[in-house]
Amino acid sequence: MQHTMEKVKRPRIAVIGAGIIGLPTAVMLTKIFYKPEVTLIAEEFSPHITSDIAGAIIRPVVDNNKVGSCDSRRDEWTKVTFQHLYSLFSSPLAKTLDISLVSAYDVYEGERQDPWWKDYVLGFRHVGEEEMKVLQYPTGKNCWAYSTFMMISGSYLTWQMEQFKANGGVVVQRRLESLEEIDGVYDIIVNCTGLGSRQLVNDPEVYPVRGQAIVVKAPWIKTIFAEETEDGVLTYVFPRADSVILGGTADVGNWSTQVDPLVSKAIMERCFIYSPGLSTAEVVKEVAGLRPGRSTVRLEIDETILKKSTVIHNYGHGGLGVTFFRGCAIDAIKLVEHCLFQNGFTASSKL
Ligand SMILES: Cc1cc2nc3c(=O)[nH]c(=O)nc-3n(C[C@H](O)[C@H](O)[C@H](O)COP(=O)(O)OP(=O)(O)OC[C@H]3O[C@@H](n4cnc5c(N)ncnc54)[C@H](O)[C@@H]3O)c2cc1C
Repeated sequence: MQHTMEKVKRPRIAVIGAGIIGLPTAVMLTKIFYKPEVTLIAEEFSPHITSDIAGAIIRPVVDNNKVGSCDSRRDEWTKVTFQHLYSLFSSPLAKTLDISLVSAYDVYEGERQDPWWKDYVLGFRHVGEEEMKVLQYPTGKNCWAYSTFMMISGSYLTWQMEQFKANGGVVVQRRLESLEEIDGVYDIIVNCTGLGSRQLVNDPEVYPVRGQAIVVKAPWIKTIFAEETEDGVLTYVFPRADSVILGGTADVGNWSTQVDPLVSKAIMERCFIYSPGLSTAEVVKEVAGLRPGRSTVRLEIDETILKKSTVIHNYGHGGLGVTFFRGCAIDAIKLVEHCLFQNGFTASSKL
């Protein structure tokens, strides 16, 4: 490691980005052995970021190897996040955090290999003929059933922000044009800027995968429905604690965050085929957001980008940011601790 750090002071760490990737990473940093001073810097915060638009279901929604799903660490990240949510769901915090455990049907045509995530959800099984008749899905379809978590990212982020401030974390609202603006101000900079990394660290591998969805009131819907066809057409119905999300789209390279009414109409028509009663649901709002697509998540130490500070990247989670967030935060913390140890921040420097 090439940078020399102050050993007598508390380490200074900045986390850039306050989404589902950055904020939980920042909270965990406030609790580590080295007792660092942690600053969270972000241009925007919940409820104005991509993480607020996520469904959010714990399993990939766009699972096409283009949006981070081919990373070899995905199994561990998914497992860790699932276990984290299970422990919150089983605690008195479940109500505040709007985490629910929901049963799901995933529909597909023809034969399909079992998904890589089947062991990380609960009760994964193939739906038999008799059950398919009851469900009355269009002919020619097959189906998996399982249970998984739905969460409202905004509720989780609100709780995490409270934790961060209570633990002494400092929050700064600021857009960075370049990481050089804060080079040397912090010993370590953890970059969790999602799609913003395309410009901030000049990474052309990051690109938008646009998603549009409709939030409706349909309290009778308690089951997840999802279909992703071979040619990438997405249809999903996600019941959350406060509403139901109808989706969706995955438009690679599309930067528009404007809602397209024709796209909303097409989404609703697809959802009504599987759940006709939804045609009576009250529409609360329509949303569009940009997933931070990348062939693999970038979670690594970067010692070359700055002269004084060490940078750790944690971005590019595509359509799986909520599914991966806890596992990625833990891995990012391990990298931070490795850097601090390498630079002499040991037990003697803890305050
Ligand atoms: C419609 C839709 C549905 C989705 N559904 C699911 C789902 O069901 N399950 C799932 O696992 N995932 C889902 N996702 C994907 C998930 O939302 C993302 O992977 C996740 O939100 C990425 O989180 P993030 O923290 O990296 O990015 P963001 O939430 O975009 O946060 C980035 C942060 O970085 C800050 N930032 C960026 N650039 C700069 C800069 N230059 N200077 C300062 N700050 C900066 C921003 O202000 C923000 O605070 C969905 C996404 C969409 C769009």
